Amino acid sequence: MTMPPFESILGSKVDVLTPTGLLDAIRRDIDDHRCVRIVAINPEKIITCRNDRTYQALLNGFEYKIPDGIGILLASKLHGGQIKERITGIDTMLALCDLAHHQHYRHFLYGSKPEVLALAKNQLETQYPGLKIVGTMDGYQSDQDKILSTINQAKPDLVFVALGSPKQEHWISKVQNDVSASVLMGVGGSFDVISQQKERAPEGFRRLGLEWFYRLLKEPSRLFRQTKLLTFSCLVLTRCGKRYSV
Ligand code: UDP
Repeated sequence: MTMPPFESILGSKVDVLTPTGLLDAIRRDIDDHRCVRIVAINPEKIITCRNDRTYQALLNGFEYKIPDGIGILLASKLHGGQIKERITGIDTMLALCDLAHHQHYRHFLYGSKPEVLALAKNQLETQYPGLKIVGTMDGYQSDQDKILSTINQAKPDLVFVALGSPKQEHWISKVQNDVSASVLMGVGGSFDVISQQKERAPEGFRRLGLEWFYRLLKEPSRLFRQTKLLTFSCLVLTRCGKRYSV
């Protein structure tokens, strides 16, 4: 496959793509039976990557590294980059489910707690009539052989992996050659949101790029994780006007 053009933000690669361009490319990958991995890159992941170069190299090798988070857009803009639109993980996942109207793709949901997973599956099937969810597996199973055989027996085209980061990206890379699916996508807490166990930030917060702030209000325990946003902002601003290096 031809990898999409990308920019390097503090050493992490981020694709320059539109949501439509991304969907078209993924459809071609599925139709041509190519195996691709998708990761949503946000400021938090970029800072984690700076402290863990192995993880950074791993994510840089993913076929799609989508620009998730207003921080990525602003960082690109400040440095004369070309990333113009956010492409969030959850919106990409939902858009791929929406393809069920036109294609007969088979979807598999892996991750999150069993009750969350069951609710997410029901919700998706209601929201996208015709969607084929051919199997599910909760994220607290430890038997890797069982996980892989369940996925492979279901013969999915797409596997959405909700184990949280960095666990899901490590898992995706580890099993890439053992799973017979085209698309392996890390979707973090998306099943929690789809199942309505966690609220997605209201439209106003999303439009202003303040989802992170809403999440902090709802889950103050994430304060430590959110300090990475501050580190990201400082690093981006101190390098303002210069081309990024690592
Ligand atoms: N999770 C899981 N197995 C684990 C750890 C986490 O299935 O061993 C699930 C957890 O139940 C939740 C999701 O992974 O549904 C993590 O969500 P979070 O919002 O923390 O992920 P992020 O989007 O921040 O990476």
